[in-house]
Amino acid sequence: MENKTQLKPKAQKTAVPIPKQTPKERKHNFNEVALGYSEEQAQVEASRCLQCPKPTCVKGCPVEVDIPAFIKLMKSKDYAKAISKIKEKNCLPAICGRVCPQEEQCQKFCLLGKVGESVSIGRLERFLADWERQTDIVCSEKAKPTGKRVAVVGAGPAGLTAAADLIKLGHEVVIYEALHYPGGVLMYGIPEFRLPKNIVQGEADYVKKLGVDMRLNCIIGRTFTIPELLKTGFDAVFVGSGAGPPQFMGIPGENLGGIYSANEFLIRVNLMKAYTFPKCDTPIKIGKKVAVIGGGNVAMDSARSALRLGAEVSVVYRRSREELPARKEELENAEEEGIDFKFLTSPVRYIGDEKGWVKALECVKMELGAPDASGRRKPIPIKGSEFTMDVDSVIVAIGRNPNPIIQSTTEGLQVTKWGTIVADENGKTSLPGVFAGGDIVTGEATVISAMGAGKRAAKAINEYLTNKK
Ligand code: FAD
Ligand code: SF4
Repeated sequence: MENKTQLKPKAQKTAVPIPKQTPKERKHNFNEVALGYSEEQAQVEASRCLQCPKPTCVKGCPVEVDIPAFIKLMKSKDYAKAISKIKEKNCLPAICGRVCPQEEQCQKFCLLGKVGESVSIGRLERFLADWERQTDIVCSEKAKPTGKRVAVVGAGPAGLTAAADLIKLGHEVVIYEALHYPGGVLMYGIPEFRLPKNIVQGEADYVKKLGVDMRLNCIIGRTFTIPELLKTGFDAVFVGSGAGPPQFMGIPGENLGGIYSANEFLIRVNLMKAYTFPKCDTPIKIGKKVAVIGGGNVAMDSARSALRLGAEVSVVYRRSREELPARKEELENAEEEGIDFKFLTSPVRYIGDEKGWVKALECVKMELGAPDASGRRKPIPIKGSEFTMDVDSVIVAIGRNPNPIIQSTTEGLQVTKWGTIVADENGKTSLPGVFAGGDIVTGEATVISAMGAGKRAAKAINEYLTNKK
């Protein structure tokens, strides 16, 4: 009844489309694909929001951004207050506005979605974050200093969020990051054409401007261990060390030349800027025909990067298009760009040439059986359906294991059989004063779920420090 009343206003049923580079143009460059709303487009989209008295979208956001409130401020063109409203809960809005799977989160619960397209919450969030970057405003309110010190391991979304929330609560915060840039996967994994690196750097700079001390090139477990940090003046530690070593299928021929893990391939393209060759000293050799194995965001990013490096690309995925776990928008972008999808197909073995370089991939066709433990229908090989594909290289994007160094250097820290750190929903681990969150606890997930974990842990750390004698 209530929902019917809410849906009465003359809201537009379709969202304002996001301007994009054309597929023909963008497949030859690494520039951002989605160009963002103009002010006029953002205003039209914001005006679609019904300002529901009992909004349903907020419950879909893992960090609980007050969506109707920021959109209302936006409609009145008070952009500074609108972005402040977002930043009360989310310190990385330019990133979330670009890469959150909104169709599975906030936008899934938007009431307009029942009669047409949901409000494009992420695109509005991006508009405001981009507006703020051009005006260089730092929106934040800080509590009085508490005299407590917290070390954060890892400058990915979990670590940056925990650090931002902890410093706003008045604690002194030092982030230790193994790489020479902050951002984690946002910097070394997700390509420039989806998430420009100056934007990641800008959001990390915002966390620094809040007062967080960021120490790069520092591996916890090597430079210092967690027990050492706790002995040398830190009152608590948050571990957000994410996922690292890649998984492989364990099929014959995996050691041939030309078979890359998506991790290595994307690091070489993004962090080492292989796509700028000959301007960089670190090219990557992939040849003309590339197969990418997997169906998640990592597979889409690998495929679209390889395409931009000049290859013909096929994605080999063992389930059907419906089960493909990548963000819908990125799947559509990949299809528009001409990536070939081999659904219901799984690799069986790699075939090499006389020099030990991969030259073909043998695959088998699959059919879907009953749902497995994940709730998705299990792919089953169809006997006798084997076929081979000629390839010059293969990129394996089937998942990563947790980064192992902290676990192996922190005595008493409970770990699961998969190597993830055991922590409760507030990030509390088996060791007093040690909290953890993000991919290192859940296994590979999403940016916003890592941020949600960082947020909950910051709250729990604050309670721990307040109660600590
Ligand atoms: P990470 O981002 O992995 O950050 C961990 C940080 O800890 C890293 O910087 C690492 O260098 C550092 N570190 C590790 N060990 C140590 C140590 N011992 N000492 C000091 N520092 C250490 N999610 C989405 O929501 N949308 C997407 O579109 C999307 N696309 C993706 C595309 C790719 C290619 C990949 C790989 C992932 C993608 N994801 C996406 C998933 C998302 O990026 C991750 O879930 C998220 O980054 C996890 O955040 P985190 O902070 O837990 O870990
Ligand atoms: Fe939606 Fe992500 Fe923004 Fe939350 S942070 S409102 S999930 S886009």
